[in-house]
Amino acid sequence: MCDPGVPEYFVGGRRVEPGRLYRVRDGGWVEPSPRSCPNGHRLGPGRGLAGTVACPKIGGFHRTHICRTCEAIIYTPPEVPECAHDRMVPAEVWEANSAAAGEVLEDPPPAST
Ligand SMILES: [Zn+2]
Ligand SMILES: [Zn+2]
Repeated sequence: MCDPGVPEYFVGGRRVEPGRLYRVRDGGWVEPSPRSCPNGHRLGPGRGLAGTVACPKIGGFHRTHICRTCEAIIYTPPEVPECAHDRMVPAEVWEANSAAAGEVLEDPPPAST
């Protein structure tokens, strides 16, 4: 069972569910990031661009990770069919942070929604 359309998300080498924050060794909370783009290119600090795009359809923001190789955009949470935001999303350098080396210490409580 492997759906190539669903990226896998990792925090510090541990596979996690997207859309939640995970506590790491340094006491911070990090968001999961996709390990690769839909075309199989490895992502990560220095290998992609990260940004956010406001989306009224989901009532919030998508986190975006952009593959530098093929410019694929991974939205977290995923886009819904009603999404109509411009694909030209603001991007910033994907900074190396504790998510790259951090160790997950604690899972957040289960989402109640
Ligand atoms: Zn790619
Ligand atoms: Zn959207």
